[in-house]
Amino acid sequence: MTAQDLSAVQSQINVWDMAQRQLDEVSKLIGLNESLHGYLRQPKRVLEVSVPVRMDDGAFRMFTGYRVQHNLSRGPGKGGIRFHPDVTLDEVKALAMWMTWKCALVNIPFGGAKGGVICDPKAMSMQELENLTRRFTTEISIIIGPEKDIPAPDVYTTPQIMAWIMDTFSMIHGFSIPGVVTGKPVSIGGSLGRDKATARGCSYVVDEAMQELGREIEGATVAIQGFGNAGMYAAQLMADRGYRIVAVSDSRGGVANDRGLDVKGLTAHKAETGSVAGFAGGERVDNREVLEYACDVLVPAALEKVITKENAPRIRAQIIAEAANGPTMPDADDILFDRNIMVLPDILANAGGVTVSYFEWVQDLQANFWEEAEINERLKRKMVRAFRETHEQAKSRGVSMRQGAYCVAVARVAEATKLRGLYP
Ligand code: GLU
Repeated sequence: MTAQDLSAVQSQINVWDMAQRQLDEVSKLIGLNESLHGYLRQPKRVLEVSVPVRMDDGAFRMFTGYRVQHNLSRGPGKGGIRFHPDVTLDEVKALAMWMTWKCALVNIPFGGAKGGVICDPKAMSMQELENLTRRFTTEISIIIGPEKDIPAPDVYTTPQIMAWIMDTFSMIHGFSIPGVVTGKPVSIGGSLGRDKATARGCSYVVDEAMQELGREIEGATVAIQGFGNAGMYAAQLMADRGYRIVAVSDSRGGVANDRGLDVKGLTAHKAETGSVAGFAGGERVDNREVLEYACDVLVPAALEKVITKENAPRIRAQIIAEAANGPTMPDADDILFDRNIMVLPDILANAGGVTVSYFEWVQDLQANFWEEAEINERLKRKMVRAFRETHEQAKSRGVSMRQGAYCVAVARVAEATKLRGLYP
């Protein structure tokens, strides 16, 4: 099968089916009753909006966007907004469900939600992006708000885009409402440490896993697929901790060096050229090769469904830390478990982002802002605790870390849903 055939087959496997299948397996494991299981299998609310946008040439173009709220039993909806050409409603539903489990796992008082707009932000001007963001915000304003549902950044959405969301929502209501969105710039109510939070949280749980496996951090090798907000900061923070970053890639290609890549130089190269590809400090590798690169820790930090049953047997890492959402397909999960590779699942490994989003929301509501050291300290406590709880479940039940994490998270959501009961 060629690489193209393979990616065609992969893309046919629906992420929403994948998310539901993960829930089904764990429901059996924890003996969740059938009614609750059926309830949690579906999103609570799905909004599809048409978004007319005035383009630079004066014409307007129609875009389609979504906001999905999966479960609100534990608190308002929480989850990012993705701008990407491949966004689908099923993908947004899966991502919303994953947010429900993620927030429950780190035990923050939010339900799960997610948004997406089908667009190619790389091919749009800043003005077009602003117009798109403002109109999309207006269209979903009927279901978002600090007590209802709080968006945040995700793939290809930035602090500037969060600022436009905050401003648009505030203009509609006639006063500033910073708590409607997180991941904002610090000058308008953002939190210190939010930019690096996903990566920082990821590095904390990798440290825990290394300790658990009795491995030395100094010199341990790391390969990272994706060099956006999660991947780039993961490279920086892990290099600072003593890990050796040996391979990285982004959508345009990658670079590898067994002696360790110069992460500062690489970051500068990415800022200059828009990609890590072509960086002089290593050899060229492609996106797929990075996943199979010889390393101790593999960090998929881009999109879904990249670890498949085809490449799972060839992965050489001991630990996989899912900075991306949904990078591992269920069949691949089974193979990795049999091969004794520890997968730190997305709902654990990338939960640092939403955790500091929670801190940002709390700070906005109190209009009282914390020091970065305090934020990082609180983040560490939440991440280490979630790791421990996950590991304990995985060990005592003899299941994977993903299933362990789901056991903790799904039980929490099920309990809240059950306690609140059915209305009317
Ligand atoms: N988009 C991030 C995630 O998938 C962050 C969500 C948030 O901060 O609300 O977890």
